Amino acid sequence: MGLSEIKARIRAEETRVGRPEGATQLIAVSKMQPIDRVLAVLDQGQRVFGENRVQEAQGRWGELRDQYDGLELHLLGPLQTNKVKQAFDFFDAIHSLDREKLARKLADLVQETGRCPQMFVQVNTGEEPQKAGVLPEAVDAFVGLCRDLDLPLTGLMCIPPVDEEPALHFAFLRKLAERNGLSGLSMGMSGDFERAVAMGATHVRVGSAIFGARDVVPAP
Ligand SMILES: *Cc1c(COP(=O)(O)O)cnc(C)c1O
Repeated sequence: MGLSEIKARIRAEETRVGRPEGATQLIAVSKMQPIDRVLAVLDQGQRVFGENRVQEAQGRWGELRDQYDGLELHLLGPLQTNKVKQAFDFFDAIHSLDREKLARKLADLVQETGRCPQMFVQVNTGEEPQKAGVLPEAVDAFVGLCRDLDLPLTGLMCIPPVDEEPALHFAFLRKLAERNGLSGLSMGMSGDFERAVAMGATHVRVGSAIFGARDVVPAP
């Protein structure tokens, strides 16, 4: 589809459902994409990118960061406890906060540094055993814990099960966020970003629809 078509479709969907134009931020998911495709999208003006792995992101964006003004990098993939400091220092947003240990470490770093990336709590809305994320019934308590730790939260994030209607999960995530007084909703990928925009996504994470299919073998 390409960047400009995705942006146009997001805008069209915002208009269709009566949301303000620009209410949804597009995160271009550049994980496992060849660098020439990433440079092409940078040249088209995109500045917000998502990556799944701390090291892959540092390798790719370490230098590019100095060459492009206004770059914003979002960590979407699972965060290992021993990489928290690196991730905290490097990313502008973390979408995979999903356990107490991480919350505590991140809260300590906020206290130490006085700054904080945008933080999304990942929710396992489909309650899938193989998937990361706080279980829905534990979300209220987890958000409460983060507040007790003075860890500022931007919102909630989910990855719906592949074989279920995503709109149900988007609606559910939105309900959980509203109940907890959180405005950010990170939801929607290449196959369902328009439905996510319709359901109130503030951040959609779109990879293959912008860049094309990813390399099959993940970076080590
Ligand atoms: C890879 C990934 C995406 C992008 O997926 P596409 O289907 O290529 O759009 C979005 N969110 C997360 C968490 C991902 O890991």
